[in-house]
Amino acid sequence: MQTNSSKANFYVDFPNSGKIAYFSMEIAIHPEMPTYSGGLGVLAGDTLRSAADLSVPMVAFTLLHRKGYFSQHLDSAGTQSEDIQPWNPADFCAEEPARITVTVEGRVVTVRAWRYDLEGRSGHIVPIYLLDTDLDGNSGWDRGLTDHLYGGDTNYRLQQEIVLGMGGVRMAAALGLHVNVYHMNEGHAALLTLALLEQQLGGGLLDVPTEADIEQVRRRCVFTTHTPVPAGHDRFSTEQAIRILGGDRTARLERLGCFQQNLLNMTLLALRFSRYANAVAMQHGKVSREMFPEFTIGSITNGVHAPTWISDPVQQLLDEHIPAWRQDTLCLRNAIDLPEARIRMAHARAKGELLAEVASRTGLVLNPKVLTLGFARRVATYKRANLLFNDPERLVEIAAAAGGLQILFAGKAHPQDEPGKALIREVIDNAARLSDDVLRVVYLENYSWDLGALLTAGVDVWVNTPRRPYEASGTSGMKAALNGVPSLSVLDGWWIEGCIEGVTGWAIEDGADDAEEASALYNKLEAAIVPLYRDEPDKWARLMRTTLAFNGSFFNTHRMVIQYTRNAYYPTKPAARVPVREETYAD
Ligand SMILES: *Cc1c(COP(=O)(O)O)cnc(C)c1O
Repeated sequence: MQTNSSKANFYVDFPNSGKIAYFSMEIAIHPEMPTYSGGLGVLAGDTLRSAADLSVPMVAFTLLHRKGYFSQHLDSAGTQSEDIQPWNPADFCAEEPARITVTVEGRVVTVRAWRYDLEGRSGHIVPIYLLDTDLDGNSGWDRGLTDHLYGGDTNYRLQQEIVLGMGGVRMAAALGLHVNVYHMNEGHAALLTLALLEQQLGGGLLDVPTEADIEQVRRRCVFTTHTPVPAGHDRFSTEQAIRILGGDRTARLERLGCFQQNLLNMTLLALRFSRYANAVAMQHGKVSREMFPEFTIGSITNGVHAPTWISDPVQQLLDEHIPAWRQDTLCLRNAIDLPEARIRMAHARAKGELLAEVASRTGLVLNPKVLTLGFARRVATYKRANLLFNDPERLVEIAAAAGGLQILFAGKAHPQDEPGKALIREVIDNAARLSDDVLRVVYLENYSWDLGALLTAGVDVWVNTPRRPYEASGTSGMKAALNGVPSLSVLDGWWIEGCIEGVTGWAIEDGADDAEEASALYNKLEAAIVPLYRDEPDKWARLMRTTLAFNGSFFNTHRMVIQYTRNAYYPTKPAARVPVREETYAD
């Protein structure tokens, strides 16, 4: 629903009619296109949605992922099985006539692109090019290079990264795009720098690049890192690099200092060739600078696309009271004045929609009056989905004191992540053992965009329990905040910035181990959350209001894209320093 059609591109001036080319291995483009796996893809999609709304001249490159990220099935014991989700690109995208080639393991692979036009609220279009190798003339193996997102082994991954990085740069040129900024969203796209360097050298593989050549590439590249632990960075062995990229290219990357401990490190490659690099939250910036002390790494805290993640009932309320929010998300700060009864009603409707979905999926009818916690994200062990069950007796006691407690879980484990799959079984086992009339625990299958939107809008409290400092940012708690839903979370990632105790949610205090942190979680539930929810509905409504006002107005991608534009893409030159005489300071 558009209530104000004026364009929002007064925020920034864009020089030279050039384009920013945004590269990401995954992008959540459309709920029915299975081209994303989790937070990174959702962030990429939200970034492009805000860029379109703000009329930022951006284009994007990703892989087609023809077989889709997997859909998840859970049996009654909680064992996960996976199915591919093939989809038809022609249903959503238009095929571009351009063809380019890349060399993979010495073979020449032809690549085409499918264009998806992402339209912003005032009609500005951000085209997304999905690269595809499924073409006659390519070998059977090569035709499958753009089939599976995060499937296969590291050989497959490096081959995909050649298609994305080097193929994307060549496709941009073949499409006649005038790109003046290349943005690598995570290290997967780092090989684009190699393609740019080769362009700079006129294709000469054996020419030794000069500092000036490298500087020409650096002037055009910016990089965002998303991983706070060394093991999370993409790395490839020298043998793999020589075999897949070729000996000359590998030697060049070695000379340019892109190897660490004999491994080609994609983060290092991206950092070496970027004039600007950032992490995705303040704390993550600190961790990244410690990991790569020789580089300057700033931070731009993540956000989410407000109109995508705010439930319809809350959007209607905002349109009525703060219509300018669609054009300028800073206006959400004025949510501080929303009528308490109305925000309570809007949330009740969102909760009703969520519980209806739970009933239709599971047959379980949950109680809309009962305090409902949500925990849904990619199942990685560091996120500790089972921390809530660390002391089951205590959890049961809290549920009794609250007059009932409902906990909704969802999340996929990567098909090769056995510990992650074990964690799902553990949660489902606890759900079966502990659930009764007072405590209800439900694990919902096949976490995706739609379910994520229902959950973050419809629960009463969003819970997050990562082991510090593994959460670079996290974004699902931001979706909750935009719906007025407070978080109960470990102080990691974005929550260090977002938590105002008792105003936007609650912090789970640090402990020496899981048991201590679980105990801190129970303490907050028992002492702060349960009594407030049970006994003080007016105060709870005010809490929802402050959550939306303080965190919704900041943790959104409109603010984030404006920061990228000003700090990374087209930084404003520092103002010339005006010499000031001593006496100026005297008065
Ligand atoms: C938002 C979202 C995520 C990311 O959640 P985190 O809190 O960052 O872990 C993952 N998957 C889906 C489907 C989402 O909507």
